[in-house]
Amino acid sequence: MNVPLLDLKAQYAAIKTEVDAAIAEVLQTQHFILGPKVEQCEKAVAAYSQCAYGIGVSSGSDALLACLMAENIGPGDEVITTPYTFFATAGAIARLGAVPVFVDIDRATYNLDASRIASKVTSRTRAIMPVHLYGQMADMDAVMGVAAEHGLVVIEDAAQAIGAEYKGRRAGSIGHYGCFSFFPSKNLGAAGDGGMIVTNDSARADKLRCLRGHGSKPKYFHKMIGGNFRLDAIQAAVVSAKLPYLDGWTATRQRNAQRYGQLFGKANLPVALPTIATDRHIFNQYVIRVAGRDELQSYLKNKGVGTEVYYPVPMHLQECFSYLEHRQGAFPESEGAANETLALPVYPEVTDAQAEYVVECIREFIARRANPSSADRKVPAVAGVQ
Ligand SMILES: *Cc1c(COP(=O)(O)O)cnc(C)c1O
Repeated sequence: MNVPLLDLKAQYAAIKTEVDAAIAEVLQTQHFILGPKVEQCEKAVAAYSQCAYGIGVSSGSDALLACLMAENIGPGDEVITTPYTFFATAGAIARLGAVPVFVDIDRATYNLDASRIASKVTSRTRAIMPVHLYGQMADMDAVMGVAAEHGLVVIEDAAQAIGAEYKGRRAGSIGHYGCFSFFPSKNLGAAGDGGMIVTNDSARADKLRCLRGHGSKPKYFHKMIGGNFRLDAIQAAVVSAKLPYLDGWTATRQRNAQRYGQLFGKANLPVALPTIATDRHIFNQYVIRVAGRDELQSYLKNKGVGTEVYYPVPMHLQECFSYLEHRQGAFPESEGAANETLALPVYPEVTDAQAEYVVECIREFIARRANPSSADRKVPAVAGVQ
């Protein structure tokens, strides 16, 4: 049986008519950059995220970068974040010449351990960038508490968490900024790169709109140095066409996660399952923790099951950040997660039979490790001969 990690063709087949029509409409108008389609998408995503303003941008990475730029963060500044994330979070900070200051993660949720933030705050700290990893929000009460105490800005990296909730509040709506990615593999994916910033602050929204167009307002009069961070109309049209389906897809991802829970429970395997610590985990990824992760991944690959390691090298050990002079062992929870976790297929179209097959393959792998069959065992040719 074949179970890919993600099957976007299945999703497209189900909504082809709407997506094709949305793209065709943009082609008809030939209005490709910003414009009414982008504004419509901004309103819809902001409302979905319980925010007043949405600013469409070129990617989730540029969303993070633009927020830091809007706060004039640069050389001499420090930004607190997690080392266990996609590169873009720490990358945005470093690109502006600021220092990413890492705080280790919570073992159960893989999100930044908020109880460790306060000890990393210095006179140079300007912002905190929590990441809502795998679709579950970080402990935002604690993050906002530290931020308020020290006057810090909070930029939520919600690239994996659109629609996730913490105490009834949506991802992106609690901090000063929320950043989404419409990279195709995210829960709400475009037909290429795209992203959005949401905020409840009108002055910040205005500044971001200016920054995304090279800081000009009006055209050719540059108030500040921005970049080309614009969202294009085709991406906005695709996102708008898909948004009405998002809650249904999320419900199916949650059901898939629950089904894995039941299957793993029945099989009674030494596998740590995701911990649900918030109201609404949207399962951008379903990540298990298991001994022998690399061997399991190749075993599953041979069985036709697609998996992924998010992320094999935490940020503090990346070559490009060697100048920060972090050693192996500096952030043990992040390093442990990097070594032991594996994402299983959880996309909405995974069938019962596919999920059962995935768990059965994992059961097989673990049974073989515990008790290799004589066929698998390396037995010397003369062993046991009397
Ligand atoms: C995907 C992702 C990003 C970057 O989004 P792009 O749209 O690919 O630039 C940033 N942070 C996290 C946590 C992500 O998963």
